[in-house]
Amino acid sequence: MQIVRDLETLRRALTALRADGGCVAFVPTMGALHAGHMALVAEARRRADQVVASIFVNPTQFGPSEDLSRYPRREAGDAQMLDGAGVALLWAPDVAAMYPNGPEITVQAGPLGAELDGAARPGHFDGVATVVARLFDQVRPDVALFGEKDYQQLLVVRHMVRSLELPVEIVGVPTQRDADGLALSSRNIYLTEEERRAARALPRALGEAAQAIVEGQGVAAALAAAREKLAGAGFDPIDYVELRDAEMLAPLAALDRAARLLAAAKLGATRLIDNLPVQPA
Ligand code: AMP
Repeated sequence: MQIVRDLETLRRALTALRADGGCVAFVPTMGALHAGHMALVAEARRRADQVVASIFVNPTQFGPSEDLSRYPRREAGDAQMLDGAGVALLWAPDVAAMYPNGPEITVQAGPLGAELDGAARPGHFDGVATVVARLFDQVRPDVALFGEKDYQQLLVVRHMVRSLELPVEIVGVPTQRDADGLALSSRNIYLTEEERRAARALPRALGEAAQAIVEGQGVAAALAAAREKLAGAGFDPIDYVELRDAEMLAPLAALDRAARLLAAAKLGATRLIDNLPVQPA
């Protein structure tokens, strides 16, 4: 696997990769890779001849009081995992290579980016949209893979691609979980042992609420019960527990179409997010 850090070398490497006329799949990440990221790589390999991954901890999607400086970085181990999984090229620019002129021209994520996590993290999805647009322009993939774990991010990217008519297919990959149900996340390493045990309440509360809603219980009551379970497990604050339409995240008072149950809450110093699909019977 070739590791590339400057745009000129990237362009040359991509030209060589495409020489056989094969199609290129792209997996953007912030590194500290786990089995969730590797599921994206595996799906990328199924869908394309060549897989390009990126590692870039994007400063513009972190708020001023967030964890940018302590975000886990372990590129050597990550590169080994990607190499072993058949990735052809790792794009690992530093901030200066990514934003040589500073992030002066940015992409606005629009109304979808102002909801839920966008409300809790102002500017976050503008930062995501800006860096993903930039990465797409650099890598020019035929297909790009994103995890459903960050469901709102997946929708923002899909919406951006539609809106700007970018020539790339966006594929969502189901959330990979630990044995107790907790969604894999690079941030899980921040959890103390006790917090890690309590964290299983998040997927459990969402699963129980999703089941109650499918069985016809009122949405408001099911969401209130989930919030109570999270608070009981020590989550504080609970940013949101909401049932939203699966396409545009419009609020839903009843399960009258394909929906998504989404939550974000803090356990100690660590903010966790999760979501589940909820289909009308
Ligand atoms: P990150 O490195 O956290 O920016 O994530 C890079 C990509 O991996 C994003 O598309 C995430 O949604 C995806 N991802 C992260 N965790 C998981 C997971 N547990 N299951 C599936 N995809 C994931």
